[in-house]
Amino acid sequence: MSEVDPDEDNGVPELARANPRHLSTEDFLRFERYAAEMLGSLGLDLSSPGARETPRRFVRAFFDATQGYDGDPKLVTTFKTECHGGPDCELSQVIEGPIPFFALCEHHALPFHGNVYVGYIAHEHIIGLSKLTRLVRLFARRFTVQERMGQQIAQTLQEILEPHGVAVYIEAHHTCTQMRGVRELTPSTRTSFWRGHYEENPALRQEFLRMTTPTPR
Ligand SMILES: [Zn+2]
Ligand SMILES: [Zn+2]
Repeated sequence: MSEVDPDEDNGVPELARANPRHLSTEDFLRFERYAAEMLGSLGLDLSSPGARETPRRFVRAFFDATQGYDGDPKLVTTFKTECHGGPDCELSQVIEGPIPFFALCEHHALPFHGNVYVGYIAHEHIIGLSKLTRLVRLFARRFTVQERMGQQIAQTLQEILEPHGVAVYIEAHHTCTQMRGVRELTPSTRTSFWRGHYEENPALRQEFLRMTTPTPR
């Protein structure tokens, strides 16, 4: 017997619900003027053929890169499994990745990018790789930080699948530090998040980390 989704909104978790931003044409035109003033003052030659349209493209690129705020109601498509709560079920991991992402650091509004690995111990539902990619994009295409992104991915996957455990591992390069010549002590920033069985079982965490084997750079 599978459980009925407890959520009223067709099982779409709060964080993933569609909530489209409303920006008018006037808003965009105003933002383009702000961008032109800023970029021009910094040194961009706005009269050159290559840069004439840059303020418009700049605003548009930021709008597209933050689409995660619009939500993703198509996220929730899960498949049934045959879990009956046996010991086998509670130990076998599904691990997906690398799932590449691009996000904007909320401190500098500059990109950080890398890979996400997702692991879970399925109970009655599993989810396809394409939906996991959507899940990662939902929280990456925002102004965010690596820690929050990982927590939101883990929490939403927990709500969608109600699995026995969730693991999320993220390795990312932060252009805000790299571009400005701040010396990085490590080649990438790595964070991990554990829910359910992963929290209590170090062997599961080790297996997950071994199988995700981040490539050293
Ligand atoms: Zn930053
Ligand atoms: Zn189960």
